[in-house]
This record gives sequence, C-alpha cells and structure tokens, in this order.
Amino acid sequence: MTDMDWTEFARWGARISQWGADYHQTLRDRPVRSTTQPGAIAAALPATPPEAGEGMEAIFSDFERIVMPGMTHWQHPRFFAYFPANAAPASMLAEFLATTVAAQCMLWQTSPAATEVETVMLDWLRQSIGLPEGFRGVIQDSASSATLAAVLVMRERALAWAGNRDGLSGQPRLRIYCSEEVHTSVDRAVWIAGIGAENLVRIPTQGQLRSMDARALAAAIDADLAAGYRPAGVIACTGGTGTGACDDLSVVIAVAQAHGLYSHVDAAWAGAAMICPEFRTLWKGVEHADSVVFNPHKWLGAQFDCSAHFLRDPDALVRTLAIRPEYLKTHGADGIINYSEWSIPLGRRFRALKIWFLIRHYGLEGLRTRLRNHVQWSGDLAERLRTNPRFEIVTEPVLSLFTFRLKGADDAAQIDFVNRVNEDGRIYLTQTRVASGIAIRFQVGQFNATEEDVRFAHEVISEIAGEMT
Ligand SMILES: *Cc1c(COP(=O)(O)O)cnc(C)c1O
Repeated sequence: MTDMDWTEFARWGARISQWGADYHQTLRDRPVRSTTQPGAIAAALPATPPEAGEGMEAIFSDFERIVMPGMTHWQHPRFFAYFPANAAPASMLAEFLATTVAAQCMLWQTSPAATEVETVMLDWLRQSIGLPEGFRGVIQDSASSATLAAVLVMRERALAWAGNRDGLSGQPRLRIYCSEEVHTSVDRAVWIAGIGAENLVRIPTQGQLRSMDARALAAAIDADLAAGYRPAGVIACTGGTGTGACDDLSVVIAVAQAHGLYSHVDAAWAGAAMICPEFRTLWKGVEHADSVVFNPHKWLGAQFDCSAHFLRDPDALVRTLAIRPEYLKTHGADGIINYSEWSIPLGRRFRALKIWFLIRHYGLEGLRTRLRNHVQWSGDLAERLRTNPRFEIVTEPVLSLFTFRLKGADDAAQIDFVNRVNEDGRIYLTQTRVASGIAIRFQVGQFNATEEDVRFAHEVISEIAGEMT
C-alpha cells in the first residue's frame, strides 16, 4: 500500500463532502437513536491492529458498514432529546479548514490569526447576547471546563491566591452555593478543585422558574461565616439541564456581591437564545456576574466543541491558571494574548473560525429566526399536549424546553413510554427527574427542524401513548 498523496486526499475530500450532503438530506429516513445492541460494534472490529496499511476504499466501506449503524443521529431534525449539538453546514466547513491547517494555537505566536479571530469573535458573541462592554471572552472546550475554571478562581480568590502554592490542607473550609437545578458539571468542578462535595451548599428554589431563594442563600452564607467556614462563590444557572430552571440573577448576584463572593452563571444551553432581546428577561442581572458561560455548540449552530466563557476580570482567571515557564514566553510583542493561560488544557484548536463562518453566513437575524421558531413550535406542542386528556404538562416551557407526562401513570410507565418512543425511532426524547417523579423532556433545537417535524412528534407521541392503554 502506498501512502496517501494529495491528489488522493483531494479525491477523498470531495467524496466525503458528497457523502455528507447525502447523509444530511436523507436523515429523516433513519431511526434517530441507534438501534445497535451493546458490544455489537466492538465485536465487528478486529481485536488487533493491522501490520500492513490498507487502502481508503476498504476503510471507508467499513466505516459505512460497521460504524454508521452505531451512530445516533444528532443532526436528525426529529432529535428532541437532551439539548441540541448543532453543526450548521458553514461551521462544518470551517472545522474542515481548521482540521486541515491543523495548527496548535496555544500562544499568540503559534498562530496569531487564531488568537485574534478568537478575541474578535468572542466580542461579537458578547454583543450578540447583550453582555456589557468590559466582559472579555475565551473559548473553552466545554461548559464543564469553564465552570471548573470559575470554581478554581473562586478557590484562589477566597484563599488570597495561596491554594495553588500551599494546597488545601490547613486552609479554612471553602463553601460554594448553588441550587439543585444546576448541571452535574458543578459537582465535578467542586470535587476536582479539592473543595469537596460536602462544601457545595444546595439552596432551595422557589417560583415557576425554580430560582434560588435569595434569602435562604444569604442565610446560608451567614451561617457558614458564623461556623468559621469561608464562602467562596455562587453558581447560578440560566436554563438548567433538567427543566430549564433560571435563577433570578438580579437578586442572587446581589447577595453574592454583598458578601464579596465571586459569581458564575451557567447558561450553557439557554445563552444562545439571548441573541433575541425578548428572551433576556430570563437572565436579567447577568451584567453583574463575574463569569458567564454559554455553548455556541448547543443551540446556536457551531459544531461541537465550542464553549464561550466571558469574564469581567480575566486577570483573576490568568492569575489562577497561568504558569509561564520560560519556553512558553512570547518575546517581543506587547499586548498579545496567550489563551492557553485562560484555560486548563495547554493546547488549543482553532475553534473561533467556525463562529466566524457561522455568524457571517447566517447573520444574527437568520440565527434569531431559527431560535424563535423553535420556541414557538415547542410552545405549540405543549399546548396541544395540554388539551389532550392523556397527558399533563409538568414544567411549563422555558424557551424551547418543557416537560410532560402520561396522566395518572407511575414512573415506570413514563420510562416505558420513553423507551417505546425511542425504539420506534421516528423521534428521540429523554426523561428527567423532578420533585414529583419522572417527567418526559421535550426540546426543539435541531438546526434543520421544521414545524412539520414538531407536528410529526405530536403524532408519534399520541400514537404510542394510545398503544399503551
Ligand atoms: C450541556 C450543559 C452543560 C455541560 O456542557 P459541556 O459543554 O458538555 O460541558 C453544563 N450546564 C448546562 C446547563 C448544560 O445544559
């Protein structure tokens, strides 16, 4: 086997582009969730690596034969599970370019364009979602990493920057506050930062948006101070993963500030919706936060992975994470940014390119229209289910997410229903746990979803519920 030359690379590139276009155009004919059995894909792969090279034809044919049946189709327009992980075509093309140029963009000098496009794109995003001037942004690989970075800043700030140097033993007990509605990435950030799960204090929620009770928050902070603990930060959510809970940031952050605590807002999914001014009431007060994360790789259309992390004071983050060994110093240029000092991994891909392609190609107005449609269609479906005696709405729509359940049925029946829907394959849904038990989640967010797809979901949901009684 001779190595691939660039003529062959170009031929395969064209063939894969054509394959991709065909794939996306025929997605509706495929079951959304993979129907493969556990272990089937692994069993189809040789247990040992080949000694001799093989031609692309054989490799590609095995990709179609072995791998594709084991894929769940996240770009399927009838994907209503979890949150979307959109990949708008323009962003896929940018990813192809970034992969082809294949730069490692850890420092300004290791690719000035990657750094400077990132700076400008994060400012475009900042303006797009209505954050005030003064917030500076960086792309993290995931919201989990952004939240971990924010928790590390909380730790260092609360310990007068001694944690990295001295470790945590012998230090006062740090405390972080959040509601039950935050994502599990908050738990993990607190574990990894060495603060400990016992010191993540859960504040009860109230109201239809399930916001942290600000008075209970203030009382918990005061009680911890009285007990000799050291409060370090508050983590709020806009659009929690289970049901879309939104903390009332204007009061929650005010309590944090009154106690000198660092505040981080996790808007991983819902942040994209803030490109529409009418949705910004959901995070009123965000302008006072110290740190805000949202994932353009969810609803907005930038291919995974791409998480936008905004900071009021990037110096606190850099002071927490930068190491600056001699071999990383960029000599000569002033005012340059080395984004590897803003994130936990050293290496960085050129992720800003896909934001540039995405926003330029669709324009903010094109993106807003998509999101507004999703919210509208999801709300329409919630109304249809509300008037159907077989169902009840459990949590009201927050943007394009609501939960419902089969009326009068127990948790096992709700799970059975979700399983039947997903085995049927025409649509894909997931469940979540709320105070009253299991609820079925429904969100509209796939980039190419149409109103017809959401109506179709109603037909499938009604039909399968009908078969169960
Ligand atoms: C999806 C999600 C996360 C995790 O995002 P990653 O980028 O996968 O780490 C965190 N918080 C919320 C609210 C989410 O919806």
